Amino acid sequence: MLDSLPVRPAAAPAAERQPPFGSSRVLVIEDEADVAALLRLHLSELPAEVRIAGNGEHGLALALSAEFDLIVLDLRLPRLGGLEVCREVRAAGRTVPIMMLTARCGELDRVHGLDVGADDYVAKPFSALELKARARALLRRAALSKAGRGPVASLSKEALQFGALRLDRARHKATLAGADLALAPREWDLLCFFAEHPGQAFSRAELLDRVWGYGHDGYNHTVNSHINRLRTKLGEGSSRPSFIHTVWGMGYRFDATAAA
Ligand code: CA
Repeated sequence: MLDSLPVRPAAAPAAERQPPFGSSRVLVIEDEADVAALLRLHLSELPAEVRIAGNGEHGLALALSAEFDLIVLDLRLPRLGGLEVCREVRAAGRTVPIMMLTARCGELDRVHGLDVGADDYVAKPFSALELKARARALLRRAALSKAGRGPVASLSKEALQFGALRLDRARHKATLAGADLALAPREWDLLCFFAEHPGQAFSRAELLDRVWGYGHDGYNHTVNSHINRLRTKLGEGSSRPSFIHTVWGMGYRFDATAAA
């Protein structure tokens, strides 16, 4: 049983439901025991109480029956795969952040992973630093959302709200102080992607990969021109604070506090 893997020997059963203050509850769904042990080792440092499910069925049952602050979900699981688990968790109305792990670096998997409701992905082999940084970002966002404070007032499926900026997902419409921004479809995709990952910096290559997907033409100027149009529509460059910040030598970052 992977559940009883003795990496942290003192974990009392009661601690699973009532973690110490400041500790998060993380569910790892991973069938490879050595990878699962490594994940437990790194994620415990967040700090977090880590539970491990060795297959998709067990993972899904745990995800639906217990409260977690983060689910780390392997894409390649025997029988019930990661995408199905992710879809089922979202279908049950669970908004817990989900980080997908993928051994494939194919863009299609990433796009599919995000389409079924995953919040982020990490490709194997992962670095401990990247894994922990991404996990922390997801936990922080979820904590702010749960507490009803912070820039993200709403993280529902239907709408994202950042102060005066509202993204109505059902109608694919972005408004700023009630005024329709009249975004083109790709500008909408880009803004939604940024809004779903507040504070995270993305390179132009990452944006092409994750917003344009596998059909993109691979040119950085495609990203630049869309960002410029989006900034103009958001009224940036005038007196309004910027939502989209340039991270020099890296790419772009969405600042959700711009509207606060
Ligand atoms: Ca696997």
